[in-house]
Amino acid sequence: MADVHSLLATNEKLSQEVLRPGADHVDQSRRFPRESMTALGKAGLLGLLVPALYGGAGAGLAEMSRSLEAQSQACASTAMVTLMHFCATAVISAKAGDALKQRLLPAFASGEQIGTLAFSEAGSGGHFYAPVSEIRINGAQKQLSANKSFVTSAGEADSYVVSARKPGAAGPTESSLYVIPRGARGLATQGRFDGLGLAGNASAPMVLTDVALDDDARLGLEGSGFQSMLEVVLPHFQIGVASVSIGIATEAFQTIAARVGARRYEHAAGAALASIPRVQFLVAEMALELNAARAYLAETIRKVLAADPAAMLDVLGVKVKAADACLNVVSRAMNLGGGWAFGRRGGLERNFRDAQAAAVMAPSSDVLKDFIGKACLGLPLF
Ligand SMILES: Cc1cc2nc3c(=O)[nH]c(=O)nc-3n(C[C@H](O)[C@H](O)[C@H](O)COP(=O)(O)OP(=O)(O)OC[C@H]3O[C@@H](n4cnc5c(N)ncnc54)[C@H](O)[C@@H]3O)c2cc1C
Repeated sequence: MADVHSLLATNEKLSQEVLRPGADHVDQSRRFPRESMTALGKAGLLGLLVPALYGGAGAGLAEMSRSLEAQSQACASTAMVTLMHFCATAVISAKAGDALKQRLLPAFASGEQIGTLAFSEAGSGGHFYAPVSEIRINGAQKQLSANKSFVTSAGEADSYVVSARKPGAAGPTESSLYVIPRGARGLATQGRFDGLGLAGNASAPMVLTDVALDDDARLGLEGSGFQSMLEVVLPHFQIGVASVSIGIATEAFQTIAARVGARRYEHAAGAALASIPRVQFLVAEMALELNAARAYLAETIRKVLAADPAAMLDVLGVKVKAADACLNVVSRAMNLGGGWAFGRRGGLERNFRDAQAAAVMAPSSDVLKDFIGKACLGLPLF
């Protein structure tokens, strides 16, 4: 396995040479970015978070963030698929038993297998931590029937980390996580993804009908799912989505900075759009907003890695601020791009659509503000 530094250099190269050229096609044809995922997998990049013991690079949140930011500048659909794979990798690495890790992680590291999360349910919507489905005991077997409302890489991933209430749970936070393989009897994808943005994500609903659950495939103890979601999945997901948002915003910023320099007016003796003070002012505001979100992201990663007790508040907040910064920067870029941007040239329009997902992906910005407000006021979160 290559060292992390050269892996990240390869990530930048593949983002430019494979993800970027394929991004429009993935978006327009609404196809899963299989070529990009294969290239990332072959280069060992899907093993970034897999512990070295299982053939991965053993990297952490900072490297994950860098890799996702570079990918999302080129193709945000690919970055989001990779992020969900990273979330699955993290929770399997932290909570699976040895046999399950041996079975899955080497294949994750080599890119032969992709993982994802199937948490969200029609019955609890954006409250991703509160499954309504419950594991049933049927004779000697545990079984699960559930309606998972959005699963990134649905039908494309090889392993699905699925949440459900434990048997006989008193409430939604008494949940468990199990890994279910693609092809498991009773696991089916429903329909195709038709999202506004991240069009290559294959984020379709999945239905589980009496799917058999093996104790070997459980992540941690029965009933420990909620804890695993908060401790492991949430920091990876929140920091990952923030990184994707910053990547999309950076791309839009660079595109529009080049465009306002190149756009010239014959009626004004060839003056560039960039020479107008109001345009300079708007570009400055975009740069400041992007820099502030980037600094908040770096600070959040630092606090999580230092096990700072104040990290959780930033883990909740960083996705909100990065999503807001991304929406603001990309909307302004669209505006400054005028008819050129509206006419789908330069990729800004794709950035604009991709930027919308972060605020609604659970926990949504609204739900996060609800949590942050309660935390600031010393009220219980759940
Ligand atoms: C592109 C994409 C990929 C996804 N991938 C996955 C995946 O891989 N795995 C997975 O498990 N899920 C995934 N999801 C699902 C996602 O994380 C959310 O669960 C889902 O978008 C929430 O959908 P909903 O429409 O049911 O929300 P609803 O629950 O119907 O919420 C609607 C609105 O109400 C607001 N709201 C709800 N409760 C409150 C509150 N207490 N305070 C204030 N406002 C509130 C929300 O902010 C939201 O804007 C994905 C979603 C998208 C868009």
